[in-house]
Amino acid sequence: MERLQGIAVSPGIAIGESLVLDNEGFRIPRRFLPRDAVEEELLRLGKAFHAAEAEVERNRKTVSEQLGDDYAAIFSAHLQMLRDRRLHDEIEEMIRVRHYSPEYAVSRALRRYAKVFQSLQGKYMAERANDIFDIEKRILRNLLGRSREELANITSPVLVLAHNITPSETASLNPRFVLGLVTEIGGPGSHTAIVAEGLGIPAVVGVGPFLTDVSGGDTVIIDGDQGQIVLRPDEETVAHYRHEVEEQRSLAAKLEALRDLPAITMDGQVVQMMGNIEFPHEVELCKQRGANGIGLYRTEFLYLGRDDDPSEDAHYESYAEVVNDMGGLPVVMRTLDLGADKMRSLPDPEDERNPFLGLRSIRLALRNRDLFRTQLRAILRASSLGEIRIMFPLISTIMELRQARMVLADAMEDLEEANVPFDRSIKVGMMVEVPSAIMMMDRFVDEVDFFSIGTNDLIQYCLAVDRSNKDVANLYTAADPAVIRMIEIAVRVANQHGVPISMCGQMCGNPLYTMLLLGLGLRSFSVTPSAIPEIKRACRSVSTEQCVRVAEHVLKLESARDVKNFLKEELAKVFPELPL
Ligand code: PEP
Ligand code: MG
Repeated sequence: MERLQGIAVSPGIAIGESLVLDNEGFRIPRRFLPRDAVEEELLRLGKAFHAAEAEVERNRKTVSEQLGDDYAAIFSAHLQMLRDRRLHDEIEEMIRVRHYSPEYAVSRALRRYAKVFQSLQGKYMAERANDIFDIEKRILRNLLGRSREELANITSPVLVLAHNITPSETASLNPRFVLGLVTEIGGPGSHTAIVAEGLGIPAVVGVGPFLTDVSGGDTVIIDGDQGQIVLRPDEETVAHYRHEVEEQRSLAAKLEALRDLPAITMDGQVVQMMGNIEFPHEVELCKQRGANGIGLYRTEFLYLGRDDDPSEDAHYESYAEVVNDMGGLPVVMRTLDLGADKMRSLPDPEDERNPFLGLRSIRLALRNRDLFRTQLRAILRASSLGEIRIMFPLISTIMELRQARMVLADAMEDLEEANVPFDRSIKVGMMVEVPSAIMMMDRFVDEVDFFSIGTNDLIQYCLAVDRSNKDVANLYTAADPAVIRMIEIAVRVANQHGVPISMCGQMCGNPLYTMLLLGLGLRSFSVTPSAIPEIKRACRSVSTEQCVRVAEHVLKLESARDVKNFLKEELAKVFPELPL
């Protein structure tokens, strides 16, 4: 049994068999074979070795012809290794005697060789270890016959353990079969994490290198509440976690009862409880949990996982589906927020060193006007079907907002000329997620109909911490006093001017912050659908006076640790049974 710590990004506990994807997306298969499959598997192994040898021989010839024998020597060394009798015998023995699968045996044997080189000092030795990994990959590629596991095609219950998976790959996971997700890299605010939470898949990211210690089929526990994973747990540990799963089930059943009750504080303050979605089908989840509307529709997900640009009609169909399904409840459609960790096939801005500070989001939309206009036209057309609001992301200056509004005005004019119906008084708002926007709140209030605070980005820009980098994840927290002061300013200024303000970052889906946010004067939350019942319960269990006291105290604190500890104590007074 081995316990590893990572970053908790999607709550819940999953226990099951692992499906392991290495950093090239190869599925590292099960460890054992049925006895009668041995001969056939040895044949398969032999073919894979031959194919690998042929590939290396081809490479050696090409390089030797173009660059000379010195450069081709590296391939000769690879060939020597592939033909090494001792290596073949070792692998064969593992398959015959221990009934290991050929893939597992190959990995085992070659990684042992590589480890020897890695343990020796010096760059030359490290490169030899890399050569061995290269050979391993080549044989595995030939054994497995494909390069990237089709995550969308998983049809038996597994926990996916991967080096990394992209937001769109995560979105393709079927939560019926993928019970949990762990990645070696990735940070707390990454979109992979957000999508996993949206799907309700318990997830832990940023565990660091561990995939070499686990094979497909091993039992694994993912604790998405504490950010832990347990490899090959003993019986006692499994029993402990099974008990926790039962407890969570009974809590979820109790929360179900809140579905049709309003989010209202004990002294009668009404709180809007909206849902965040990435795809139209998530509307159903929002409705099941009693959302008052969609507070954030991340429309850029329509672009991910496809190579071409969606047409205006493709946009329109998705939007129309969402609006119709919401049956008259409001839908806040955020315009394209592509770039940074949500890259797709747009022309690469020349090798961006800092994509989060680069050409992303509204900046990218303003540079690709046709793309932007196409989307705006589709949103406007859909606005004739129900209550749609438009929201621009990542606004950092007033001029940027005005430019975006100009493109919108153009799109409206076009539609008007063509006699296409749309809502002429559509509400236009902006995300508050860059510190510069907060410093200018008293000006922005005259420019928009509403605001929504995006803490996922606000935290990274306020604290200079990449939201998707595990190595600085300890600094990435909504509890930092600087972040809380920024939120305080945004909410206070918007409230003073009577401009509606909401929050759609992950912070408001965490019950730890509910009292603080209510105390700061926030009355509209937009959260991952699965978090709605819990946040609703938190709102219904507190009074405004109590929340104001909590907020006043928090604003006096100096460190994220103090803020967290204080909020934990306060929450424990309200809900002693919540896992913290
Ligand atoms: C945010 O930044 O808080 C947000 C809601 O948007 P995203 O996570 O898509 O950047
Ligand atoms: Mg954002």
